[in-house]
Amino acid sequence: MFQSSLSLPFHNADQHLEAQVRHIEQHELEAEKHDDNSFSIRSEYGLLRLSATQDQMNLIIETERDDGLDVMRDFVADYLVGHMPSLKLSDLVWSGHNIVEGTPANFRTVAVVKRTILNEGMLRLTLAGNDLSLFEEGGLHFRLLLPKNPNRTPVWPIRLTSGKVQFPEGDDELYNRVYTARYVRTELGELDFDLVRHKGGVAADWAESVAEGAIVGIMGPGGGGYINNGWLLMGGDETALPAISRILEQCSSDVKGQVYLSVRKSDYQADLQKPDGIEVFWLPDNDSNQLASSIIETVLPDNEDIYVWFGGEQKDARAIRKVLKSDWKLKPDQFYCAAYWQNDIRSEAE
Ligand SMILES: Cc1cc2nc3c(=O)[nH]c(=O)nc-3n(C[C@H](O)[C@H](O)[C@H](O)COP(=O)(O)OP(=O)(O)OC[C@H]3O[C@@H](n4cnc5c(N)ncnc54)[C@H](O)[C@@H]3O)c2cc1C
Repeated sequence: MFQSSLSLPFHNADQHLEAQVRHIEQHELEAEKHDDNSFSIRSEYGLLRLSATQDQMNLIIETERDDGLDVMRDFVADYLVGHMPSLKLSDLVWSGHNIVEGTPANFRTVAVVKRTILNEGMLRLTLAGNDLSLFEEGGLHFRLLLPKNPNRTPVWPIRLTSGKVQFPEGDDELYNRVYTARYVRTELGELDFDLVRHKGGVAADWAESVAEGAIVGIMGPGGGGYINNGWLLMGGDETALPAISRILEQCSSDVKGQVYLSVRKSDYQADLQKPDGIEVFWLPDNDSNQLASSIIETVLPDNEDIYVWFGGEQKDARAIRKVLKSDWKLKPDQFYCAAYWQNDIRSEAE
């Protein structure tokens, strides 16, 4: 296990700790209260322990993951400096596991080695690089980092000694888009991901014409969410199809449930491998209204351990999340409901 800790002088820390913890919980995290001055917050990366005395706040990170310290120290550094105006990055002196300036543990440069048109609506890129083993098990998604100015030598993120991961700015700025690793072949050093083909997107346009050999950055993996083995209700559009496909492939064979998929092309159907007890409903023509209402109107089975998973357009994700929390009263560990994209936003490239 890796461990690292940070102590900060903080006037009346014990009186402010709970408010800070409740604020951190807004990042879709849940805290456990041990007593008035001691909390812990568990994430997929590890455990963050927080405690306070009258004049000091103490934070301890514990993680089993190779990338856990870098990801969690970055989160903590970002949060603290963002929310405590008097604090500077140089005030953050971590002890425990050594921290040196350099490449974050969850960053890789990779080369595009293959481009495959899967069908009219989707294409697959194969990336190749060293040490992709983390991407096989540590989560489904990753950040694709594309230099805004392709004519400059790329500058990649750096981990500072404060724990913060600093992204390049100005002419070296990077576009940052989230995708799902569809297949990872660690032994070959390859990762496939599938992109929805749509007009006017930085990543979508780049993928249409990227040359073999192009170098990009990836950061990850993380997220995805499905830990329960009960009755599963899933929904998503094409952007979530890679994640849903991976989750269904990894489900234990006795999982039962329903999956609603809204896609433009029916040729995806051949790809999906799933337990026999999962029924799949293909909704025609990327019909977003039908997708959200199919989830919301599902009659849940009684006496079952329920898990609900949704990935899709922001408006649908918001509507579904509201029902899951307010009407169905699901606890945070019973659902994952994420906005994968937002309709009608202006592209950053414009
Ligand atoms: C956890 C997670 C996992 C994801 N996994 C995948 C994946 O495996 N495959 C995948 O294709 N996407 C995936 N997405 C969605 C993807 O990140 C977004 O679609 C992203 O906006 C695409 O970036 P872009 O640069 O092409 O478009 P942007 O520059 O972000 O947007 C430009 C324009 O395109 C529109 N647009 C964006 N996405 C779409 C879309 N899908 N369909 C139609 N119009 C769109 C926007 O409304 C905007 O008008 C995932 C998102 C998340 C959060």
